[in-house]
Amino acid sequence: MGTNDPRRLIPRTDRLLAHPELRRARGRLGDEVIRSIVQDIQDQARSGELAPEDVEPEILAAVSSRAATSLRPVLNATGVIVHTNLGRAPLSESARRALLTAAGYVDVEMDLPSGTRSRRGAGARQALMRTCPAAEDALAVNNGAAALLLATTALAGTGEVVVSRGELVEIGAGFRLPELIESTGARLREVGTTNRTHLSDYESAIGAQTGCLLKVHPSNFRISGFTSGVGVSELRSLADEHDVPLVVDLGSGLLAPDPVLPEEPDVASALVSGADVVIASGDKLLGGPQAGLLLGRAEVIARLARHPLARALRADKLALAALEATVSGEAPPVTAALHADPVRLRGRTEALAEAVGCAVVEHDGRVGGGGAPGVPLPGWAVRLPEGAARLLRTGSPAVLPRVHGGACLVDLRCIPEDEDERLADAVRAALAHQPLGTEGS
Ligand SMILES: *Cc1c(COP(=O)(O)O)cnc(C)c1O
Repeated sequence: MGTNDPRRLIPRTDRLLAHPELRRARGRLGDEVIRSIVQDIQDQARSGELAPEDVEPEILAAVSSRAATSLRPVLNATGVIVHTNLGRAPLSESARRALLTAAGYVDVEMDLPSGTRSRRGAGARQALMRTCPAAEDALAVNNGAAALLLATTALAGTGEVVVSRGELVEIGAGFRLPELIESTGARLREVGTTNRTHLSDYESAIGAQTGCLLKVHPSNFRISGFTSGVGVSELRSLADEHDVPLVVDLGSGLLAPDPVLPEEPDVASALVSGADVVIASGDKLLGGPQAGLLLGRAEVIARLARHPLARALRADKLALAALEATVSGEAPPVTAALHADPVRLRGRTEALAEAVGCAVVEHDGRVGGGGAPGVPLPGWAVRLPEGAARLLRTGSPAVLPRVHGGACLVDLRCIPEDEDERLADAVRAALAHQPLGTEGS
C-alpha cells in the first residue's frame, strides 16, 4: 500500500469502537455484532466500494438501525391468514402482553401461597377447559407434531396405530405423518384405500396388537368424487367394543364450530362424538402461539402427561402464557381476519386504491397453514404492477403482497386497520421507485 493509497484513510478499528455512539450501542448489542459491523464496512472501503470518509457515518447508521433480533415485522398483504412463512398466527394484544410478563420470573410451576411446586401451565390448562367444556383435561406441548407423537407413542407403544390410507398426509416441508408416528417405534396399520375406507376395514385390522385408533383430518388437501370415510362416532363404537383408545388429529385448532368454515372439524364436536383425545395446533385457527393441544378424557391425558416423552416435548413458559391469554382474551387477529366485515374491507381497499392511484380487483383470501383447503374467503385487493412486489418486500415497513397473474396484489384482510396509513406510504414509495417499463413484467 503506497503512501497515496486512499485505503490509508480508512479509520482504524480501535478509534471507531471508541466512538460514543458505539459505546452506547453496547447497551443493546453484543460486542461481536458491533465488531462485525465495523469490519464489514471497513472491508467495503478496502475493496473500493465505499469512500474512506463514509466509513464512520455508514457504521453509525448500521449500528443504530441494527436490532438484537434479525427478524423483521412484515405487513401480510397476501390475504393468507395463517401464513407459515410469516410465522403463522399473529398474536392478540393480550397474548403479546402475556409474553412480556412471562419473560421474567413467573409462577409457571409454583404455588405462591404455599411456596411449593405446582402443576406446570395450570392457567393455560384451565383456560382451555373453560373454553371447551367437553374436555375433561388438557395438555399443551411444543406443537401439533409433538402432540401427535406423544399421543401415539404413549397409547400405542410398540403396538399398532390403525389409520385410514386416505389420511396418511404430508403436512408441510419435511413432515410426513406416517414417518413421524413410526419414528418412535409404533407401527402403522393402514386400512382402506386412498379414496374409500369403511368401518369393516378398521374392524378386520383390530386385534391384540392394536395400540390405538387414529383419525386424521387431511387438512391441506381434499379428495372428491367416489369417496367415503368413517366418522368419529362410528369409530367410538368400535373402540369401545375392543377397548382401545381413539385419537383424533384435527390440526386446525378450531375449538368450536365456525359458520365461516362449515366443513372444518372442531375439537368440541370431536370430543362429543367420542374421541378420547383430540389434537390441534395452537398457531393455526386458534390464533395463538406455536403449541400442540391435547384435549380429552382425564385418564388418557394423565397417561400422556406421565410419559417420559412429555418432558421432552413440553411447552415453554412463553407459549403457555400466550396460549392462556389467546383463549381468555379478546378475539385474536386470525379470528378477526377470518370474519372480516366485507363492507369495511371493501371500503379500506378502495381508500388505499385511491390513495395510490391503482385499481381494485376481486381477490379471495385463504385460511392457509394447511387449513380449509379450497375454501375461498371472498374479498378485494389493490392491483399494482408486478415490479412493485420486490420493492414492497424490501421496503420499510416490509410488505408481503401476492404476486399472481402478472400483477402485484395487495390484500388488506390480514393488515391491522391501524396500519392502513403506513401501508399506503409503503405502496406509494414502491410505486415511486418502480423503474419505468416493468409494468406487468
Ligand atoms: C398442522 C397439522 C399438524 C402439525 O401441527 P404443527 O403445529 O404444525 O406441528 C398435525 N396434524 C394435522 C392434521 C395438521 O393439520
